[in-house]
Amino acid sequence: MEKTVQLYEGKAKKVYATDDPELVIVSYKDDATAFDGTKRGTILGKGAINNRMTNYLMRLLEKHGIPTHFVEELNDRETVVKKVSIVPLEVIIRNISAGSFAKRYGVEEGIVFAEPTIEFSYKNDELHDPLMNAYHALALGLATREEIEQIKAMAFKINEILKEYFLQLNVKLVDFKLEFGRLADGSIVLADEISPDTCRYWDATTNEKLDKDRFRRDLGGVEDAYQEMMRRVFGE
Ligand code: ADP
Ligand code: UDP
Repeated sequence: MEKTVQLYEGKAKKVYATDDPELVIVSYKDDATAFDGTKRGTILGKGAINNRMTNYLMRLLEKHGIPTHFVEELNDRETVVKKVSIVPLEVIIRNISAGSFAKRYGVEEGIVFAEPTIEFSYKNDELHDPLMNAYHALALGLATREEIEQIKAMAFKINEILKEYFLQLNVKLVDFKLEFGRLADGSIVLADEISPDTCRYWDATTNEKLDKDRFRRDLGGVEDAYQEMMRRVFGE
């Protein structure tokens, strides 16, 4: 499978067409951004780590019956995925208070919720990804009622699978962001990535942060945290 033209360059990945109209190649970069693109930097080795971790987790989810866009890992940084039309919603699941939730509601980080929460943001850079509820998404025609119900059910199921998986690695899955897409036949699959860029991971013993918050908050040890997650997942 060969890349043809570049279709898109995002903040963390590039997307290329292939000679198969139903497949694209994503290429993961070491570039890192935070706070709506205002903070920029590089996390050495991140592209390869996020590529391999995403693919590992997508395969795990497939085994548990979650349809995903994953097709084939090509090399360290590049993966063939099914081309989807992205549902323009960032779907965020939270198990423990952190980040914008803690800020918005004026609570400390680390409150363990009795039930996981779900929220949506409108994936729209110009509007700075505003928070929205399911009715707003429906009103704007971003997804149908059935699609939203399906996305919610899939997101909660993914949370149960990933929470249990990461706990075995002595990692608490605090929160994470998912994106879903529509295949040519209209069916919904999990797309984009699941990585230390898009999840909060805390060591279950020490609560040490093992994710992009080390970059966002200038905590140091950014590369080490990504490497440590790689070591826990792949034992290397
Ligand atoms: P951003 O657009 O937020 O800067 P990235 O740098 O990660 O994000 O760019 C990757 C882009 O590819 C995102 O817009 C994402 O929604 C999109 N994408 C992810 N998976 C697929 C897929 N299977 N088919 C088409 N587009 C995808
Ligand atoms: N997240 C993401 N992309 C975004 C916004 C959030 O991957 O554009 C992830 C983030 O890594 C965290 C979760 O979603 O795991 C919740 O993020 P939050 O709403 O707390 O926002 P942040 O603190 O990142 O601004």
